Amino acid sequence: MNARYTRREILRLGMAGATGLALSRLAPAHPQTRSAGRVKNIIFMVSDGMSAGVPSLADEFGKVVRGKGSFWYQLLQNPDATLGFFDMASLNSLVTDSASASSSWGSGSRIFNGQINVLPDGTRLTPIAPIVKQAGKKVGLVTTTRITHATPAGFAAVQPRRDDEDDIAPQYLNVVDVLMGGGLRHYAPNRRRDGKDLIKTYQDAGYAYWNTRDQAISSARPEKVLGLFYDSHVPYTVDHIHSDELKRTVPTLAEMTRKALEILGDAPNGFLLQVEGGRVDHAAHANDAAGIMWDQLAFDDAVEVAFEFVSRRDDTLLIITSDHGNSNPGLNGMGGEYEASNKAMALLQHAKCSFEELPNKLRNAGSADEVRDILKAQLGIEINGEEANALAGAIKGNLPPIWNRQHRNLQGLLGQILSNYNGYGWVGTSHTADYTWITALGAGREEFHGLVRNTDAFYKMLKLFGLSHKNPSMTPDEARKFISRAPRIRTEDWA
Ligand SMILES: [Zn+2]
Repeated sequence: MNARYTRREILRLGMAGATGLALSRLAPAHPQTRSAGRVKNIIFMVSDGMSAGVPSLADEFGKVVRGKGSFWYQLLQNPDATLGFFDMASLNSLVTDSASASSSWGSGSRIFNGQINVLPDGTRLTPIAPIVKQAGKKVGLVTTTRITHATPAGFAAVQPRRDDEDDIAPQYLNVVDVLMGGGLRHYAPNRRRDGKDLIKTYQDAGYAYWNTRDQAISSARPEKVLGLFYDSHVPYTVDHIHSDELKRTVPTLAEMTRKALEILGDAPNGFLLQVEGGRVDHAAHANDAAGIMWDQLAFDDAVEVAFEFVSRRDDTLLIITSDHGNSNPGLNGMGGEYEASNKAMALLQHAKCSFEELPNKLRNAGSADEVRDILKAQLGIEINGEEANALAGAIKGNLPPIWNRQHRNLQGLLGQILSNYNGYGWVGTSHTADYTWITALGAGREEFHGLVRNTDAFYKMLKLFGLSHKNPSMTPDEARKFISRAPRIRTEDWA
């Protein structure tokens, strides 16, 4: 038996720390005293679009639906956890999108929203993946979005428009060793605009190709793998757990993370692995409270897998964070003395589908009564007649007056109405400027203490690896004259 800690032991260590008892810590050595260049592996975990209120709500939701709080909450009690915040602003806005956010970590420069590792004047930046690959390390990207989506791309690709995912798909070849997530549509010849068979291209370069959960769990360890488990994004967790077929065919984020660490874990020169829980963001855009909670718990399961790996060693840094807030869900005080809030939140356990699925079901509703019946059946929430009328009208394209323009759509209206029952209030349907949480554990963790500028993550990671690279950057003033060149993408489409 190695020094792997069980969940119970970790909790005990955390509690012992709280009471000031002597204790043995994370790993046999003392990672906090490691000098620069001595960190062998970094696992960088992103819950995309995770507003500051989400972890505490997910902890409570976990107690309701599975009788235990979140693993992250336990880590926060660990005396060896370093806590901090990222300032995630982009070059053209206090509010970042995921492309600019991941690029800031991935290349050390703030750029315009909508772009991947490109300065406003077109200068291409060098992302961290090829730099560490060149130094002999392995690289992995694991996500619940399309693998070509903004957050994974920000570590390994250069693309003037984030939406050009067909052009991002080939850029991981021989740079990223382990690729697992969704996004088959950007690799399969019958789905790409140019008809190229990128799956074959990767196979010819020595990659194993996986597209089933069984392969992600049971396959022998390949040197390199392209794992594409869905055409677009991997389905929401709330849909996954309610579908026998999805459970059978699509791996969870934790399962993908476990396999990635199995493949990368003994790389002689170490590895950089990014793990993204990407659909927390999408659920937040949709004001889907249960969707957020379930995907945050799926991310939490992956955190537990990563920590198991880190806790056995003294050479690995684990960073757990988010790229930006989104719609900032918060549980309102409900009822007298706020006593109804807990019960309201617990209603989310009855959700049977995500808001990706729900509009399709609602569109078939002809009347307010049918809208009520569908919501009762799918969410376990019984709305009143006035609300049902408003929704029935909205489905036919007649939105009631809504003064917050962000909510002037079916999902926005639905989020507002459901908040009367589940207590989850929303500031909008888009990203927000919040500082994001950082929890860092293991070797080099002290670098991520306090308020950290997003761009510093790149330089800190390279320093800890004993590497160096300087990318060019621009100040907001220098960038201003290029603002007309920024990609014109409707903000609502950004994820
Ligand atoms: Zn988003």
